[in-house]
Amino acid sequence: MPRRAAAPADKTPPATALSVTDKALAQLGLTRDIDLALHLPLRYEDETRIVRLADAREGDTVQIEGQVTRCDVQYGGRRQLVVTINDGSDTCVLRFFHFYPSQQKALAVGKRIRARGELKGGFMGWTMLHPHTRPAEGDLPKALTPVYPTVAGLSQTVLRKAILAGLARADLSDTFEPGDLQAFSEAHRLWTLHGALQFLHHPTPDVSLDTLHDHSHPAWQRLKAEELLAQQLSQLQSRRERARLVAPQLIVHVEKEALHERLLKNLPFALTGAQARVTEEIAQDMARHVPMHRLLQGDVGAGKTVVAALSAAVCIDSGWQCALMAPTEILAQQHFRKLLGWLEPLGIRTVWLIGNQKAKERREALQSIASGEAQLVVGTHAMIQDKVQFCNLGLAIIDEQHRFGVAQRLALKRKLEHDGMEPHLLMMTATPIPRTLAMSYYADLDVSTIDELPPGRTPVVTRVLHEARRLDVMERIRAQVAQGRQVYWVCPLIEESEALDLSNATHTHIELVDAMAGVNLPDGSPALVGLLHSRMPADEKKAVMDGFTQGHIGVLVSTTVIEVGVDVPNASLMVIENAQRFGLSQLHQLRGRVGRGAAASACVLLYSTGDAPRLSETARERLKAMADTNDGFEIARRDLEIRGPGEFLGARQSGDAMLRFADLTQDQALLDWARAEAPKMLDRHPQLARKHVERWLGGKAEFLKA
Ligand code: ADP
Ligand code: MG
Repeated sequence: MPRRAAAPADKTPPATALSVTDKALAQLGLTRDIDLALHLPLRYEDETRIVRLADAREGDTVQIEGQVTRCDVQYGGRRQLVVTINDGSDTCVLRFFHFYPSQQKALAVGKRIRARGELKGGFMGWTMLHPHTRPAEGDLPKALTPVYPTVAGLSQTVLRKAILAGLARADLSDTFEPGDLQAFSEAHRLWTLHGALQFLHHPTPDVSLDTLHDHSHPAWQRLKAEELLAQQLSQLQSRRERARLVAPQLIVHVEKEALHERLLKNLPFALTGAQARVTEEIAQDMARHVPMHRLLQGDVGAGKTVVAALSAAVCIDSGWQCALMAPTEILAQQHFRKLLGWLEPLGIRTVWLIGNQKAKERREALQSIASGEAQLVVGTHAMIQDKVQFCNLGLAIIDEQHRFGVAQRLALKRKLEHDGMEPHLLMMTATPIPRTLAMSYYADLDVSTIDELPPGRTPVVTRVLHEARRLDVMERIRAQVAQGRQVYWVCPLIEESEALDLSNATHTHIELVDAMAGVNLPDGSPALVGLLHSRMPADEKKAVMDGFTQGHIGVLVSTTVIEVGVDVPNASLMVIENAQRFGLSQLHQLRGRVGRGAAASACVLLYSTGDAPRLSETARERLKAMADTNDGFEIARRDLEIRGPGEFLGARQSGDAMLRFADLTQDQALLDWARAEAPKMLDRHPQLARKHVERWLGGKAEFLKA
């Protein structure tokens, strides 16, 4: 039966008929009528017109209509159904390699049919391979046929019906008037939400398909404006909700005996201007009754840890507990050691909390956390488990916050809310967020930026080399290690299989052990090669890491466990194998492990093209960006360009609610509008604001707060 694109709602099947597909719809996140209405086409097919074969051009995707003059199954080589149709101007052969008897019947000689597909020419005449066919009955649809994003088991036909029904039932009344988009062109002001959605699901054939595909059509603009407004409103709402919560006032103590002062005095270096500035920004937040919600961003090696330590000191000086949570055990350990080194001599009681810990050690840690004896707690997400009860947590610091999943961030948030007193929250990240992105996703966060590296760093020189140069690289490693320098070798990341990661790392380890045979450290002891991977027991990991930190291990082969935060200033060479497999910000993070001391450091990106003749365009762009710049902000900007904001923020891993329609690299003007509009709407029309957020974000609103 031909489907009329703009079929009236009363012809759609009742909701119960859809129940078999509910699961598939839920998989797409389409549970409410409004979700269906907001599920927009990826592209469109034009079934509104019939093209005469005599007027057609090779390569066009067209719909033709004609009489079947021949229909038989051929066995020449591969079994196929061959159908010839004549449209009065010419003939066309339709070929099907997969077909059902029912299809054969529908395409019997004498039937009048429509076929839609790509026309191929040839000296035998026109052909179409696997065209869509249907009987030529009824009028042609008046609108373009939408093609929606879908999942396996959910056909376009079923999805279209569901969407049509959802569109008819959903409340699409405007929450803001088209005229509110005053800053924009006349065209923007004509579109209501209802009009825009009706149009985008079933556009008239006279529309420029380009403006639909690149989302520049005013109907798209309306939807983007709606979406951005919803984001801004929900962020603003959670900011205002937080403003009603109460946090302890943590005041900087400037007396000589105060921790904060003693720590500053004892540091082996002076703070950079940027460190001093962000430390002050944080202190000002913590001195208020409102919980801080601040993101501290700074390139790898910018020195965020000491800022965290100073903030912790302010907290402890005021008599409150501080917790520092890191995404991996290694990183937590590193912080623990560093903070211990700085704070323990000052008499601070610090405890350590991770997932696999000896029962006794753990019990004691829990006890001193609960009694308040522990002033600083350092650990992994083991901290957010139910058993952990803080006595009086005043400040929670999350390092590399983007590496925690949404669920973990939410759990921490819930954990922290107790007794009507909320701790201050400081999040740290070495993946700087471009301003546009920060404005949209983190409108609910205050951002402090360390935009200056500590003095005395020599920039890391990056070389991009083909795999074939592997032996040259090994030679260079031997020379470096013989001079007493240390080297990281990061093994290929094979996403599909942790086991493969492991076998690769193990193999490379053996290879490097061979390569280093006979090489001695300057003190005469043989150079050791260590192996570190995620499957190793914690104590083995620790032993290897300690060996590297203390300098016995000259070369550390590892999977990406070293990705975050490890700090060994003597390491001066980083080799990343199969670098083409890594994301840009990941490469930058890895590279940040070297160049921490005064020695000239280098990063070698080894790439291979596998079976392909050359690297993909994006892989080449990434490696080039790495060779071009050491600046984390510039890298972030390029990464955003190459990947788009969705992937940039790791939507896939964390399931964050992302912008579906707006594109921050293009829709700056709409974002500015939404930012200005959100507070006005929340003040003047709170009900409409609530309705708007509910419509667009529904159950996802909570995630945006995480
Ligand atoms: P990140 O911001 O990547 O977490 P770290 O806090 O690990 O960086 O600091 C990197 C290195 O720089 C550490 O060895 C740290 O002790 C050192 N460092 C931090 N601040 C300064 C400073 N102002 N002057 C000199 N060295 C510093
Ligand atoms: Mg760090």
